[in-house]
Amino acid sequence: MITLKKGSRGSEVKTLQTALNLAGSYGLSVDGIFGAKTDEAVRDFQKSNELSVDGIAGAKTWSKLGYETADEIIPGGRTINKLIVHCTATPEGEDYSIDSIDNSHKARNFSYYIDPDTKQKRYIGYHYIILRDGTIVRCRPENVRGCHTINHNSDSIGISYIGGCPPRSVKNWNMQGKDTRTDAQKASILTLLKELKGRYKKAGIYGHRDFAAKACPSFDARTEYKDIING
Ligand SMILES: [Zn+2]
Repeated sequence: MITLKKGSRGSEVKTLQTALNLAGSYGLSVDGIFGAKTDEAVRDFQKSNELSVDGIAGAKTWSKLGYETADEIIPGGRTINKLIVHCTATPEGEDYSIDSIDNSHKARNFSYYIDPDTKQKRYIGYHYIILRDGTIVRCRPENVRGCHTINHNSDSIGISYIGGCPPRSVKNWNMQGKDTRTDAQKASILTLLKELKGRYKKAGIYGHRDFAAKACPSFDARTEYKDIING
């Protein structure tokens, strides 16, 4: 677990500064250096959140800033044991935008993260989404705990393809699973899993269905990707 205080430096400090700016419009420059201004902002934030005012960003302060525990945001600080494949449970042949997934996950009260590019709050539970044309969209940073598989979020990375249900014209389409992956999606999932497995060597590859009574991702990921595991 990482605790930051005056004198700390690095990307974790940038994350802290960004989170503080969003929480209280402190106007900190996001420079990764925990100096006097960041110290002041932490103390002010602690005061207004009824925390002990010590200027030290520990677990309680991080938690108030929207991070469950500090160690979940350290690059490399999460141990990744599982790469878990999902579908968005949307009808075959229909595109869904990243914004629409963000909105639906927000409506479901998923935890938020800060988008590294826009510095805005996002609620997408997955780390990666594969669009129907095969585009791989980075969502949650890998060092942030996901929100996709109950009891398995802390040590996993969640990957989801758009689709997974029969077309809307089918009666009760949303009650059924169907492997709707396009060829482009199949290729991209494979590329992404190989890349992740190269970095997280201990990780196994699973489907959501391996951890819950669900059809998700509407195919047997464990069998399909066993060659990646076995090298
Ligand atoms: Zn799922």
